[in-house]
Amino acid sequence: MHAIPEHVDVAIVGGGPVGAALALALRDSGLAVVLLEARREFASRDPRAIALSHGSRLILERLQAWATLASRVTAIETIHVSQQGGFGRAQLSAQEAGVPALGYTVEYGDLYAGLAAGLPESGAVLVTGARVTVVRPAAGCGLVQYESAGRMHVLSARLIVLADGGRSLPGAHMVKDYGASALVCTVRTSRPHAQVAYERFTPEGPIALLPLHDDYALVWTTPADRVEERLALDGTAFLARLQAAFGERQGRFLAVGERAAFPLRLVTAAPDHQAGLVRIGNAAQTLHPVAGQGFNLGLRDVWKLAGCVMDGPREALGGSDFLSRYRAQRRGDVGGGIAMTDLLVEVFSNDLPLLSRGRGIALGLMDGVPALKRLFARKMMFGAQAW
Ligand SMILES: Cc1cc2nc3c(=O)[nH]c(=O)nc-3n(C[C@H](O)[C@H](O)[C@H](O)COP(=O)(O)OP(=O)(O)OC[C@H]3O[C@@H](n4cnc5c(N)ncnc54)[C@H](O)[C@@H]3O)c2cc1C
Repeated sequence: MHAIPEHVDVAIVGGGPVGAALALALRDSGLAVVLLEARREFASRDPRAIALSHGSRLILERLQAWATLASRVTAIETIHVSQQGGFGRAQLSAQEAGVPALGYTVEYGDLYAGLAAGLPESGAVLVTGARVTVVRPAAGCGLVQYESAGRMHVLSARLIVLADGGRSLPGAHMVKDYGASALVCTVRTSRPHAQVAYERFTPEGPIALLPLHDDYALVWTTPADRVEERLALDGTAFLARLQAAFGERQGRFLAVGERAAFPLRLVTAAPDHQAGLVRIGNAAQTLHPVAGQGFNLGLRDVWKLAGCVMDGPREALGGSDFLSRYRAQRRGDVGGGIAMTDLLVEVFSNDLPLLSRGRGIALGLMDGVPALKRLFARKMMFGAQAW
């Protein structure tokens, strides 16, 4: 265990998957980096599954995390999009997009473990059980105060990176409460998944089924006033409800795993331009999971930030030029990701007849025009700026 330094070049606040990925990305930077994580260990039992895009795979390969993850992921070769009670469907395939897989489903705990495995070799000083209570970013050098084992500590840093998920420190700015939760669990279907993922839009919100090992990971958008009831249903009643909402396209739903629910909100960081401070991952933007973009976007934050950190001199870290460069590189991707996700939720989650027709036409069009399909697939894989 390294001694905890009093001054560093980069202090990463929050060692979730995004903060951990940044520590890995700065491995060869030659900079003094500290990673402060409130939890006792770099591990999680979070029940959600994450769909990684093909673009994220490429980044994870460069972070040398993919080798550990490869045996734990399930490839998505086809995505089937449809709407309940309306015509129109679209199907995207990896073959049409010219990639080995459109994406990969992984259990959150496995993703985190895959990233955490590389941390000891990252060169960053790793501090667990360290809850950051105050950050005071400043040009040149800012301060981070944290509590560990009942004692307060302070360190100074040229650049403070908030990767705390946006929940613990001031600055998060609620844009929209979707009035719903994502109900997650695994389900087994009578037909094997054959690497097909489903996105089905219903008036209540989207239902996603992601192939995971031999089962499906379900993300079922559930209105806030029905969440408790749906969580409490016995397995048979739950599967019957799901069958009614999803239909028979994947055969019968046969078994369900443990259920959990996550409230759905769009949260973005307040537009601050404080010298010496950058927010990444959910600390910068927390999205509805409908398009499976949150972590993928966070990983692209990491990749671009690490590039900016390594491209300039140490003294420039956190300065106004540095911050402008980073923000300019992220603006389009982040803005586009937020807009696309919100549009999908708002346009596809209601039963207005006119919109239902419009959605049917849009899905039909996309299915019939290969160039449109390829463009959509590229945006899902590489971000809103991809063409
Ligand atoms: C149901 C659901 C399904 C999803 N599906 C997908 C998907 O398919 N694809 C996708 O790309 N994304 C998906 N997401 C989004 C994805 O889960 C998040 O974007 C991602 O987990 C964010 O990671 P993070 O590291 O930024 O934040 P977090 O995972 O919240 O990590 C923050 C870390 O900071 C630590 N911390 C917090 N406060 C402090 C403090 N004060 N001091 C020190 N440490 C602190 C916490 O302990 C934690 O370890 C989904 C989200 C949900 C809810």
